[in-house]
Amino acid sequence: NCSAGLGSSGTISQYACQRKTTLKNCNKIFTDAFDVLAEHFEFNENKGHCLAFMRASSVLKSLSYTIRNYRDLEGLACLGPQTKAVIQEILEYGNSLKVQDVLMDERYKTIKLFTSIFGVGLKTAEKWYRKGLRSLDEVKADTSLRFTKMQKAGLLYYDDIISSVSWEEAKAVGQIVKDACRRFDPDAAVVITGGFRRGKEFGHDVDFIITTPENGKEVGLLQKVLSELTYQGILLYYDVIDSTFDNAQIPSKMFEAMDHFEKCFAILKLKKELVSSKQSEKDINGKDWKAIRVDLVIPPMNCYAFALLGWSGSRQFERDLRRYANVEKKMLLDNHGLYDKTTFLSAKTEEDIFAHLGLEYLDPSERNA
Ligand code: ATP
Ligand code: MN
Ligand code: MN
Repeated sequence: NCSAGLGSSGTISQYACQRKTTLKNCNKIFTDAFDVLAEHFEFNENKGHCLAFMRASSVLKSLSYTIRNYRDLEGLACLGPQTKAVIQEILEYGNSLKVQDVLMDERYKTIKLFTSIFGVGLKTAEKWYRKGLRSLDEVKADTSLRFTKMQKAGLLYYDDIISSVSWEEAKAVGQIVKDACRRFDPDAAVVITGGFRRGKEFGHDVDFIITTPENGKEVGLLQKVLSELTYQGILLYYDVIDSTFDNAQIPSKMFEAMDHFEKCFAILKLKKELVSSKQSEKDINGKDWKAIRVDLVIPPMNCYAFALLGWSGSRQFERDLRRYANVEKKMLLDNHGLYDKTTFLSAKTEEDIFAHLGLEYLDPSERNA
């Protein structure tokens, strides 16, 4: 039910933070193609082309109508000759040869498979590819490889982790995490962020922001929560990154640089009986639980709004929000704060941050850029 034609009603910003992008995508046939090409260029470390296709994909995701002919592209931001050529090809033939080639490409397929393992990044995937490895079985059987603790867990729970997390499962995990936090601090705030906060029905993990109303009270909470989950026998894997946060730090210009909050990348064992739609379900091996990837981030209260905004995504939305702050407002924004030339601007809510930037507030469900 995407209306046809009506292309040129107003202009569309080059910044995702000035576009409303819901989960309803009227141009999936084009954006799927762009997402494959962006990933292909990412795997080949061609940042420029990768970004061009990600931006073009994001612009099309924000449209309330389906592109039906070449003229519908007039006045759209972020579309260059390269991306337009792909659209034209799809309009004419229903698909793009370049995309078909990438999807058949052995290197692309293998790198995609290897990076789908928790703990395996592009560098490792490439190394394995260059060694001639092509499948998970070959990786597991190669005795010359040294796996990190994270990769071992990634391989062990591969099938569970690759099958996406449902909102029902996310809610059940949310209850477990909340109960564990409240045991040690009844006032602890535990919020689901990431894709689920944007309204997605499925995700690759469940992201949480955990904090306490009083600044500083959050210190030590994560360790207690992790011991509690260990005691319950449901902490399958965890890796704690200690806080390197310094209140005086000026926001970094680099996007995708890790933030400085205390955090934990974990795998939890979720009993199927705790998921309302899966009660008493067992798989063929009689396994009555599923391994779920969980991210826990613990900012101090005075950074809560920035951390929540930064972890709610989407990645493209975050990228453009920072670029907008930097280029249009000469400010620096990251997950910790907003810096205007010489001073930090404080914020209690996400609305405060949008207001500081002179942007119309966007609900998380409109940040699916
Ligand atoms: P999915 O449904 O696949 O999980 P998602 O949007 O939740 O999608 P995540 O990879 O879980 O994606 O990341 C959520 C948000 O958190 C992203 O927008 C990203 O900007 C932010 N983020 C993820 N990892 C880090 C990190 N290590 N440091 C800082 N921010 C991060
Ligand atoms: Mn997520
Ligand atoms: Mn995550």
